[in-house]
Amino acid sequence: MSISQRAQNLVPSATVVIAATARRLRAQGIDVIGFGQGEPDFDTPEHIKEAAIQAIREGFTKYTASGGIDELKDAVTTKLKRDNDLVYTRDQILISCGGKHSLFNVFQALLESGDEVIIPAPYWVSFPEQVKVCGGKPVFVQTHEREGFRLHRELVEPLVTPRTKILLLNSPCNPTGAAVSLAELESLADLATEWGFWLLSDETYEALVYDEHQHVSIASLSDRVYAQTIVVNSLSKAYSMTGWRVGYTAASKEIIRAMDGLQSQETSNPTSIAQRAAVAALTGPQVTVQRMREEFDRRRRYIVERLNAMPGIRCIKPQGAFYVFPNVSGMYGRHYAGTIIRNSNDFTAYLLEAARIAVVPGIEFGNDEHVRISYATSLENIKEGMDRMAEAVKGLG
Ligand code: PLP
Repeated sequence: MSISQRAQNLVPSATVVIAATARRLRAQGIDVIGFGQGEPDFDTPEHIKEAAIQAIREGFTKYTASGGIDELKDAVTTKLKRDNDLVYTRDQILISCGGKHSLFNVFQALLESGDEVIIPAPYWVSFPEQVKVCGGKPVFVQTHEREGFRLHRELVEPLVTPRTKILLLNSPCNPTGAAVSLAELESLADLATEWGFWLLSDETYEALVYDEHQHVSIASLSDRVYAQTIVVNSLSKAYSMTGWRVGYTAASKEIIRAMDGLQSQETSNPTSIAQRAAVAALTGPQVTVQRMREEFDRRRRYIVERLNAMPGIRCIKPQGAFYVFPNVSGMYGRHYAGTIIRNSNDFTAYLLEAARIAVVPGIEFGNDEHVRISYATSLENIKEGMDRMAEAVKGLG
């Protein structure tokens, strides 16, 4: 009796592991500030919760169509038109149990064994693991700190082969917060149409963009690009609904039909109650999204300034999401209590021990010179955490 190779090859989500370590330490009475989890610290807005409560009271608690209720699909098509200038019909939309599930269904529906998926690095931890589980081969395109982690055609083109099936875009990006500019999107779209591979656009952080950046969905660039693009989005971050598990895909009818078939055998429908809440989120007032964005922006500016004031650490100002990705390699070779810090894992362990702050080592995202710090925690926590980190950095020999 043995565990499948597929399951054994899988690397568990590092961010979830770090959050669990922080929780365990807290349970022991150790006061740890968590900068690990990618989850807004705001409550789900009241009108969204009310819609769920009403759904329960009405007895809307049974199976729904596996791909989601029409009312929610219509709310998604309205949102895509309103925010992204994209026109889809109901049969081009699939509602899944979170964006993570949407992505998994996309890979399941499209990948044959050995198909290559180009993934910009640093990358969100689940992308390569999902591709591998679905039989695909992740091909990493390294973006560079000196270019603000910008993704552009010149980086991607040399990696394209006849086996390239998908180019994954994640703008704004987890973990760097980098956002792809319109000109860069256009040149990447040209590359995709020249070669005929799919563009998978994960727009989970679209609502959280800062300064002059404006989010544009690559699918909106032309009819041809639209036909080659699969848009994935989630309600988790924009509406602080991580626990509700609602994400969606917009793509061609053929792809959606295939994904729906898979989903019907995997999970059936996303939770009926959460779907009703999602309708309220997408169609109701958007002012809470705006307020949350403004608060994240305040924290972003503060944390970047604090990090750059620490000798040996540098941090570019991200244009989106709620993460900073400072370069901490200036700490490597330094030591404490007889231990030398050699990499992002060592530095993360040191911060947990000396500063009681939990961050995620950059190696988990494919870059060992950095750590990821989520600023989805109160400004008060961020201030305290940065004070502790500054002290810890000073304490290194
Ligand atoms: N895509 C990216 C880049 C993410 O960071 C996340 C969550 O952290 C997701 C998708 C999926 O979020 P969810 O499954 O909660 O919708």
